[in-house]
Amino acid sequence: MKKLCFATNNANKLKEIQALLGEAFQLQSLQETGCTEELPETGLTLEANSAQKAQYLYDNYQIDCFADDTGLEVEALNGEPGVFSARYAGEPKNEQNNIALLLQKLQGLNERKARFRTVITLILAGQTFQFDGIVSGHIIDELRGTNGFGYDPIFVPEGFDKTFAEMTMQEKGQISHRARAFQKLVAFLQELK
Ligand code: IMP
Repeated sequence: MKKLCFATNNANKLKEIQALLGEAFQLQSLQETGCTEELPETGLTLEANSAQKAQYLYDNYQIDCFADDTGLEVEALNGEPGVFSARYAGEPKNEQNNIALLLQKLQGLNERKARFRTVITLILAGQTFQFDGIVSGHIIDELRGTNGFGYDPIFVPEGFDKTFAEMTMQEKGQISHRARAFQKLVAFLQELK
């Protein structure tokens, strides 16, 4: 089995992707790779950030790997918060403050289109591949629901009348940006078998 490092220490994420991948690759976490330092994330786009993380791992640990990066892109705000989604309202990272800032910036605007986008960078034997996953929707002006995390309580995906935070994990998992990007990654890796 080929070893493949997933740039995460989240055991659930690792298990979920391992289950989709089957036996062709053995996923390992950052910790299992020996990487305990923070990965650099200074890019100005999701593409640059995920590539930076993967390249760092490849260069420093000489291992095939992939890294993901996600952002919420709001059309009326020229794609903000985008790559800055996690710390939109500044340090320390605070999801409530991020939501409050976003709603404040959208106050009075009717144009509420937004999308979540995930970009994965995979490096295999020095070759780089990228996959993205998108879910389009809109931002409402109140918080609804308690599931999920981040901007879920204010994001309603296209074709639904509930927010991501009002969906079960399974419902969200069927249409989410992250699921779509990982499906592409898994399909690509399975083709290599
Ligand atoms: P990451 O790249 O997966 O760490 O995501 C960066 C930030 O984007 C998170 O800290 C959240 O604020 C936001 N985000 C990412 N994925 C989601 C999601 O599925 N729902 C809501 N917010 C998300």
